[in-house]
Amino acid sequence: MLGFKQEFTTLNNGNKMPSIAIIGTGTAWYKTEETPETFSQELVDQIKYALTLPGIVHIDAAEVYRTYPEVGKALRESHNVKPRDEIFITDKYSTQLKISENPMVGLTNGLKKLGLDYVDLYLLHSPFISKEKNGFTMEEAWKYMEDLYKAGKVKNIGVSNFSMADLQRILKSCEVKPQVNQIEFNAFLQNQTPGIVNFCRENDIQVVAYTPLGPLQRKSKNFEQENFHKFVKQLAEKYDKSEAQILLRWVSKRGIIPVTTSSKEKRIKDAQYLFTFDLTDSEVEKITQLGLKHEPQRMYWNDQYDKF
Ligand code: NDP
Repeated sequence: MLGFKQEFTTLNNGNKMPSIAIIGTGTAWYKTEETPETFSQELVDQIKYALTLPGIVHIDAAEVYRTYPEVGKALRESHNVKPRDEIFITDKYSTQLKISENPMVGLTNGLKKLGLDYVDLYLLHSPFISKEKNGFTMEEAWKYMEDLYKAGKVKNIGVSNFSMADLQRILKSCEVKPQVNQIEFNAFLQNQTPGIVNFCRENDIQVVAYTPLGPLQRKSKNFEQENFHKFVKQLAEKYDKSEAQILLRWVSKRGIIPVTTSSKEKRIKDAQYLFTFDLTDSEVEKITQLGLKHEPQRMYWNDQYDKF
């Protein structure tokens, strides 16, 4: 395919993970119930379309999204298009809302609904875990993850929305280090919690960014006058790419794996050309600095994390 290029990131256990996920099945697709009435054929069709594209190999799922039936159906109907071993599936155990007894049960239920033998990456969805609410501590939750990893049911394990203090607790007691921390990250929120990006880098934990297009999702009335948007637009013109592609590329140039999503075929298609162009170091730095000067913006977990 013209100009298409795939990239992979090596994790701390030597395994490789695609450097972008283009099929996020949360946010826009999130449901509070998993019933025949809430089943979304639109999501099935979207995933099936995406899997016909050579650059799209990574699906981001979670127990709490209630979208396993759609992801499972799309995977079953796509196995002639893209074999299982070419697809990378991230899944997350719901810690904030108790849906299943523990990560072991959660994974078993998820695999059944997805029609899979394993997932490529399994995450604890949040650090908000307590014996009272969940029936186990954070350290005990991680032990379940390690057991699944050792049993080969999950190829890699990690966490999501973890702060430095949360990771320090895991690192103190773990046998297997988390491979990944999936956090909210974009130019307007460059540290979900203080120092988290550098801490992950120093400890060889790969940061994965959800909401990488935060700056495009909530634009102010005068956004066209803002230096940040003016510069991103200028780069989009220079490289003949969309503003979304520029922002996703910036995330990847920061050494972070973006997880994006779109309901539009054109945008899904465009995202697979992320590695066909490059930003210079000074352009990356200028987006970083203009982003830092902009009013910070947090889209998720506002109740759990401090305002700025
Ligand atoms: P993005 O930041 O990529 O935002 C996607 C949204 O941006 C879509 O609504 C899309 O709208 C819009 N968009 C896409 N392209 C453009 C464009 N060129 N211009 C303007 N708007 C555009 O990611 P999300 O915040 O949706 O999160 C992605 C995934 O991350 C989720 O689906 C989920 O899997 C995961 N996630 C994980 C969380 C966690 O706690 N671990 C929390 C939140 C998300 P349109 O459909 O119109 O293109």
